[in-house]
Amino acid sequence: MTRLGVMGGTFDPVHHGHLVAASEVAARFGLDEVVFVPTGVPSFKQDQDVTPAEHRYLMTVIATASNPRFTVSRVDVERGGVTYTVDTLRDLKDTRPGAELFFITGADAIEQILTWKDAEELFEMAQFVAVTRPGHTLSVEGLPVDRVDVVEVPALAISSTDVRARARAGQPVWYLVPDGVVQYIAKHQLYRGLS
Ligand code: ATP
Ligand code: MG
Repeated sequence: MTRLGVMGGTFDPVHHGHLVAASEVAARFGLDEVVFVPTGVPSFKQDQDVTPAEHRYLMTVIATASNPRFTVSRVDVERGGVTYTVDTLRDLKDTRPGAELFFITGADAIEQILTWKDAEELFEMAQFVAVTRPGHTLSVEGLPVDRVDVVEVPALAISSTDVRARARAGQPVWYLVPDGVVQYIAKHQLYRGLS
């Protein structure tokens, strides 16, 4: 049975925090593969300007290309509209029958999970792995203890919000995101006018 990690995110842009988290969880849980799934419209960011999905998808492909265990799925991009994790997991289960799913998520996201669409069903479909990140203390209160694991990843105080702000201000984003992503942002002049 394939042990499949699922890393959902807006990836606007993907950064080394995401990559380290996926790598660390893959090692700890003996995952065969981690599939990165860029969102359509993220449900918690409907009031924000989000970069078109194709750009976010391509940056994720560039960032993960060199790792033989990392792949990228277009399920959320193709479905379009607002992305709910329950739909992501349903589609992955359809396309990857028999895979055991491990949904990797940051501490900030796991705390909101009980408010997500079809929350109970989520825990039946996947094991949840919460990675702790700097600046967030993790509360797993109210979550099913047997379905949620907590993994500490090396402290990386990187967020996409910060990368966007830096790009907009003309500050360097080198080494916060993979080189190819730095070049992609420059080539397409991303984050010049975004909030
Ligand atoms: P934004 O600042 O725009 O919200 P982000 O950096 O939080 O972006 P997302 O695409 O929202 O990135 O995150 C995707 C997933 O990765 C979420 O589960 C999030 O909690 C997690 N994550 C984000 N940054 C880190 C990090 N530095 N270390 C570990 N996990 C992270
Ligand atoms: Mg976020």
